[in-house]
Amino acid sequence: MAHIKLHIPGPVEVSEKTFKAFCSPMIGHRGQGFKDLYAKIQPQLQTLLSTKQLVYLSTSSAWGVMEGAIRNLVQKKVLNCMCGAFSDKWFDVSKKCGKQAEALQVEWGSPIRAEAIDKKLATGEFDALTVIHNETSTGVMSPLTEIAALKKKYPGVMFIVDAVSSMTAVPLPFDELGIDVLLAGTQKAFALPPGLAVFAASPAALAKAATAKDRGYYFDFVEFQKNAGQSMTPSTPSIGHVFALSSKLDDFFAEGLQNRYARHRQTNKMVHEWAAKHGFNLFPEKGFESVTLTCVSNGARPGGRTVDVAKLQKLVKDRGFLIDGGYGKIKGTTFRVSNMGDETEATMTTLLAAMDEAMTQL
Ligand SMILES: *Cc1c(COP(=O)(O)O)cnc(C)c1O
Repeated sequence: MAHIKLHIPGPVEVSEKTFKAFCSPMIGHRGQGFKDLYAKIQPQLQTLLSTKQLVYLSTSSAWGVMEGAIRNLVQKKVLNCMCGAFSDKWFDVSKKCGKQAEALQVEWGSPIRAEAIDKKLATGEFDALTVIHNETSTGVMSPLTEIAALKKKYPGVMFIVDAVSSMTAVPLPFDELGIDVLLAGTQKAFALPPGLAVFAASPAALAKAATAKDRGYYFDFVEFQKNAGQSMTPSTPSIGHVFALSSKLDDFFAEGLQNRYARHRQTNKMVHEWAAKHGFNLFPEKGFESVTLTCVSNGARPGGRTVDVAKLQKLVKDRGFLIDGGYGKIKGTTFRVSNMGDETEATMTTLLAAMDEAMTQL
């Protein structure tokens, strides 16, 4: 069957070069070959996140580390900042881990604002908070720098940040932000196959994790730290992913990180312009639009055009591209187009031309 190119917001299209690296001959994870591989990518990951801390590799999807962060770092009560499907679910996950949790819920389409977090943390009830930088379901990017600045006021609170669909597309200087955990799954802006997550943890987070009695084993941050110090992972990792990540990081630095960020902004702008040209509004509150995907309003916001999203999706698919028909409760009243990963002005032009054609048949 002919391959339908992915323009959904994860997993995204994976290049042939990446797949070739993924399929490198197998090596043992306790041997020198693997240690050399991890030692080679460690400084690249540290440069990517502007951090002196070790960056850890977890063979899991992002949720593994998201749940792990709760188990390692919440002892009193966690504030789950919620503005879409993924951030809402983190609240359920906290409760399923047996933790005290409180929801800071804003309307889907709105960002999480620092002032709202400040008000909650001022109660002194919380020792951790979760926030999603780029809420992929709504296409909203929350103001992370302002949120992270609160850490100075509340040093005892663990700031756990999901950057699953923004990491590598925008600068995320971990040390400068001063947050405690920054994590991402690699099937989004990294453009790797699903199944690997990367994360960094602050010294305070690692110290706190060491005091958590029920943190389990698979996502034990202390184990990650101990092993990464020797360029290893706690258990057998998906070694193919690590080869692929190494190849991908070389790509990032060959392009230049600043160029990579600019490319994401530019290709994202092209989708915004496409939406405006066809009379659609965007779903996110103005000024808080993601740069890695576009969540187009199809009736979810007042005014603007509406179409049969399922039909649009089918017409676009017939032309070889998969776009997303909206997530959760905004399925159909929104649709999403990803520009994350390897997409360029040229590839986005091809996609948007196919979407133009599809629009003429609606
Ligand atoms: C995709 C996504 C997740 C979930 O990732 P999995 O890899 O499926 O566990 C979490 N948060 C955000 C923001 C996402 O985009």
